[in-house]
Amino acid sequence: MALTGVQIYKFLPKTNCKECGYPTCLSFAMKLAQRAAELSACPYVSDEAKQNLEAASKPPIRLVAIGAGDKKIEVGNEVVLFRHEKTFIHQPGIMYRVKDTDADATAKVKEVAGYSVERVGIDMSLDGFVVENDSKDAATYVKCVEAVKGATDLPLVLMASDAAAMEAALEKVAADKPLIYAANSDNADAMIELAKKYECPLAVYGNGLEEVAGLAEQANKAGVEDIVLDSAARGFADSVTALTQVRRLALKKSFALLGYPMITFPGEATDSIDEEAMLAGQHIAKYAGIIVLDNFTPAMAYPLLTMRLNIYTDPQKPIQMEAGVYPLSEPKADSCLCVTTNFSLTYFSIAGELENSGFPSWLLVCDTEGLSVLTAWAAGKFDAEKIAKAIKDHKVADSIGHKKLILPGGVSILKGELEEELPDWEILVGPREAMAIGSYLKQYWS
Ligand code: SF4
Repeated sequence: MALTGVQIYKFLPKTNCKECGYPTCLSFAMKLAQRAAELSACPYVSDEAKQNLEAASKPPIRLVAIGAGDKKIEVGNEVVLFRHEKTFIHQPGIMYRVKDTDADATAKVKEVAGYSVERVGIDMSLDGFVVENDSKDAATYVKCVEAVKGATDLPLVLMASDAAAMEAALEKVAADKPLIYAANSDNADAMIELAKKYECPLAVYGNGLEEVAGLAEQANKAGVEDIVLDSAARGFADSVTALTQVRRLALKKSFALLGYPMITFPGEATDSIDEEAMLAGQHIAKYAGIIVLDNFTPAMAYPLLTMRLNIYTDPQKPIQMEAGVYPLSEPKADSCLCVTTNFSLTYFSIAGELENSGFPSWLLVCDTEGLSVLTAWAAGKFDAEKIAKAIKDHKVADSIGHKKLILPGGVSILKGELEEELPDWEILVGPREAMAIGSYLKQYWS
C-alpha cells in the first residue's frame, strides 16, 4: 500500500540540504507520495530506509522491455496522468502487423522498417512488428516468423493463440525477447509457462479490466513480471475509457494488478485507414504502451511519429543542439558566419535557409539551454558576453579567416554591446526571420 508524505518523511535524512531539487525533505516526501519524484534524487537515503520506501518508490506502472540489444523498446513506467504535471517518459512503441497468410509479409516488413524521417535532428521510425499466426498452422507460422526476423532487427510481438505454435516460434527467436501475445482465459497456463521458460514478456488479453487484472495476477503469481495488458476495448470511446481507467487505477489507487503498459490495435476498430490513424493518435495521447497498426503509408506514419515526438518531449527540456560551430554547404575561411541559439527548431530553421541560400556558411550555436533567440535574450542567456565567449570557446578563429558576425535581427539591440566585447570585429545585423537570410546574403555578403 502506498505511503503518505508524512510516513515517507520519517525515513528521510531531514537535513533539508536541497540536493534533491526540493527545498525541504518534507516537500520531497510529498512529491514522492504523489509519484512526482524518484527516491534516487536523494543521495543520502540509507539502505534500510530504501527498503522501507520500496513500495513508495516502486514505479506504479512497470517498465517492460520488448526486444533485445540497442533496438529494444521500453514502455510503461509513467508516473503522471497529465503531461503538464511532470512529463511522459517512455513513448509508446508503434508497430506494424503482418500475418503468416500475407503473401508479401517480408516485402512489407522491409518497406516499413526502411521508413525513417528526420525532424529537428531526430530520426523517427516505427519500432517493431507483430507477426500473427493467421494460418493456425505452426509450420507456416514459424516460417513467417523466421522470414520477418531475417528482414528486420526490430523487436517482435509473436501473436498466436495456440501454445504449440507459439513455442515453435519461440524456439527460433526467444533470444530476441519478443512479446508473447497473448495469455487468455483458454490458454493462460500454457502461455505463462512459455513466458517463464523463455524469459520473455507476456501480454494478457481479457474481456474487460476485471478479467485482465485476474490474468495479470495469475501470471505474476507464477513468476512472470514483465506483463502487457489488453482489455479488448477497441473503438474510440471504449479504448480511451479502458486506457484511462487503467492509468488512473495504477497511479491514483496504486492498483498493482493493472500497473502495466497496455497494447492497442486501432485497426481492429475500423476499416478506414484515416480512422485507424486517428485512433492511433488518440492512443498516443492517452495512454497506450504499444500501438499496433494494420496499415502503413508514409502519410499515415509521419503525423503519428511527429505527434508522439511532441507529446513525449519534456516541455521543461526543449530539444537542444550541441553548442559549437557548424559548417553548412562546405564553407571556406571567407564564408559568412551567423550566430544563433541551441534550440533545435531555431537551429534547423536557420541551417535550412542557409543551405538553401547558395552561400556556404558557418553557423555558431550558443548554449542557451534550448531557448529560442528572443526567449534566451529575454532570459539573459543570449547576450553579448555569451556570444563573445562562444566565439572564443568554440575556436572560431581556427576555421574562419575574417571577423564579421551576422546577428539575428530580433536581437539587433546586442550590436553595440558586442562591438564593445569584440572591438576588432564587425557586427552585422541580419534579418528578423530565417526565411529572409538568402536575400539578405545576396544583398550584403560578397
Ligand atoms: S536531498 Fe535528501 S536530505 Fe537533502 S533535502 Fe532532499 S530529501 Fe532531504
